[in-house]
Amino acid sequence: MTDAKPARKPIITIDGPAGAGKSTVARHLAARFGLLNLESGAMYRAFARKALNAGVDPDNPDSLERLARTTAIQLEPTPSGNRVLLDGADVTASLRDSAVTQAASRVSVHPNIRTWMVNLQRAMGIHGGIVMEGRDIGTIVFPHAEIKFYLEASPEARTQRRYLEAPSAATTPEAIREDLRKRDERDRNRAESPMRPAPDAILIDSTELTLDQVLARIESIVIERLSSPASGS
Ligand code: C5P
Repeated sequence: MTDAKPARKPIITIDGPAGAGKSTVARHLAARFGLLNLESGAMYRAFARKALNAGVDPDNPDSLERLARTTAIQLEPTPSGNRVLLDGADVTASLRDSAVTQAASRVSVHPNIRTWMVNLQRAMGIHGGIVMEGRDIGTIVFPHAEIKFYLEASPEARTQRRYLEAPSAATTPEAIREDLRKRDERDRNRAESPMRPAPDAILIDSTELTLDQVLARIESIVIERLSSPASGS
């Protein structure tokens, strides 16, 4: 339910590693404050899907750049998450498998691919009124965003959450933990826009918190910021 649409159109950013709760928080804030919820990770996933389909090496920035020139990616926010269009076709259901997840982590390392994505993401936020989640949204994509959050949780907590939401018994906690570790390492150590909190981000460690506690804390911060006249200036 949208019950508190703010008079102005803020940009809220949520960054942090996989499994920290970003998507749930972003969906909640979007519904609560009448904002568009945009998942930047889904864009890297869609491009990774295209690279895999086309047999393009996710570690080769030149081939990826050529592929990007003929690629159109759109996000359509819905109450349950983003519908993702790749060259006009709905690929939402095919973006969560582990081949795409690994390839997304690899294609997102390359500066040329990031520059392209960042420009697309900025264009999506040009009118404000959005909550965008990712890894570099508060630092690079929208450094002047009105409210920035950085969500963290211990590797154990994030592994456990991902395991509980895993669609089948085909995966083990150990495999999930190893996948998260590798993706975190790439995200944190890449030269271009590494994952890190913006200096003005509000840090929230959700390791010991329930989802309701995280949502309550974030919601009260948003209400306070949006009702402050000095906010964002
Ligand atoms: O958030 P999600 O897990 O869907 O993102 C998929 C991958 O895309 C991440 O592992 C990360 O490497 C990359 N990503 C990124 N920058 C963003 C969002 C996602 O590098 N803003």
